[in-house]
Amino acid sequence: MEDKDPREIWVELGSRRYPIYVGSGVLAETGRLMKERLPSAQCAIVSHGDILELHGEALKESLEGAEIETHLVVVPSGEESKSWERAGWLHGVLVDLKLDRASSILAFGGGVVGDLAGFVASTFVRGVNLVQAPTTLLAQVDSSIGGKTAVNHAKGKNLIGSFYQPRLVVVDPSLLETLPRRERRSGLAEVVKYGVIADRELFELLEEAGEAALDDAETLEWAVGRCCAIKARIVERDERDTRGVRAALNYGHTLGHALEIQSQLSMRHGEAVAVGMIFAAEIAARRGLMQRGDAERLRRLLKRLHLPTSVSIREAGPILEAMRRDKKVEAGAVRFVLPTGIGRAPVVEPISDAEITGTLKDSMVVEG
Ligand code: NAD
Repeated sequence: MEDKDPREIWVELGSRRYPIYVGSGVLAETGRLMKERLPSAQCAIVSHGDILELHGEALKESLEGAEIETHLVVVPSGEESKSWERAGWLHGVLVDLKLDRASSILAFGGGVVGDLAGFVASTFVRGVNLVQAPTTLLAQVDSSIGGKTAVNHAKGKNLIGSFYQPRLVVVDPSLLETLPRRERRSGLAEVVKYGVIADRELFELLEEAGEAALDDAETLEWAVGRCCAIKARIVERDERDTRGVRAALNYGHTLGHALEIQSQLSMRHGEAVAVGMIFAAEIAARRGLMQRGDAERLRRLLKRLHLPTSVSIREAGPILEAMRRDKKVEAGAVRFVLPTGIGRAPVVEPISDAEITGTLKDSMVVEG
């Protein structure tokens, strides 16, 4: 295990290269890190009320200690905040605060805050400095890195957005102590995803530690750092998601997104992704791409982590439709990321409607 504290990981994107700092307590260093890298006279911290109540003071103190004029901007919790209307409201707040192009927006929250604040940072006065300080496990290992920003549209999730890289990412795993258990577990599904697509050692660590990985600070920090490094390497090779490399990160997400939408968001993202990973592994095993034993290993691990491995679906039609509306559909066929083993790069293949429906019927509970 690495013992450098904080761990520094660079996302090498030429003139837009940026560091990710991972370490317990690194939040208190945010002001200094910003001062070193950015012309940050002013900063708007975008967050939710509960997060600010728990951790806001430490962050504000850190920024003010570095002589950065700091404003707190509170947006309501929940996916509904990722909206065009909320983005427009936020633009208005920033105008009133007289933020200019030398200012920074600091996204302090989970993926909702990160995606919304990131989108606003990319559009406000044609772009201001963006700092990500993620507070959920999902955001720490995934959404805060790589520059995908988005708001939702009535016709679909994440339909309006931009690629806009942060200038700095500050990942403090000690913030996860206050995150509700269900959210943490849900984030663990993304950690499992990294294990399957890129890191056998990480997968084995989770097999060994089980859910206790969430409670042991050192193990969690190690796992988070490992995921950040994997994400950084993938983003470097395929920043705009055009070369098929970044697509690997969508493992489990094609069915996952559809289930999330169908459940009207009562399923957490990671829970839906867990089911999606099992489904794609089942297709991969049937096609001979992945050994059946590896698919079973994955199922066992997810169960051990108390994540769902199947769902009850009333009918396959609406799920299929939701997947077709997803942006991963090309030339009429739904494209799935299929695993080829544990810790091995997956492949992306088109899957026919009949194969999807058949596998859904066999591996999930489809009523009627
Ligand atoms: P979230 O942002 O809704 O956060 C979950 C809840 O946890 C919120 O209610 C929040 O107030 C609370 N919370 C956050 N941190 C806390 C803490 N430390 N202590 C106590 N409570 C805390 O959920 P999420 O799962 O982080 O993000 C989901 C979003 O991320 C989705 O909109 C998804 O589309 C997006 N996403 C984006 C990317 C990307 O690359 N941009 C990747 C994956 C997911």
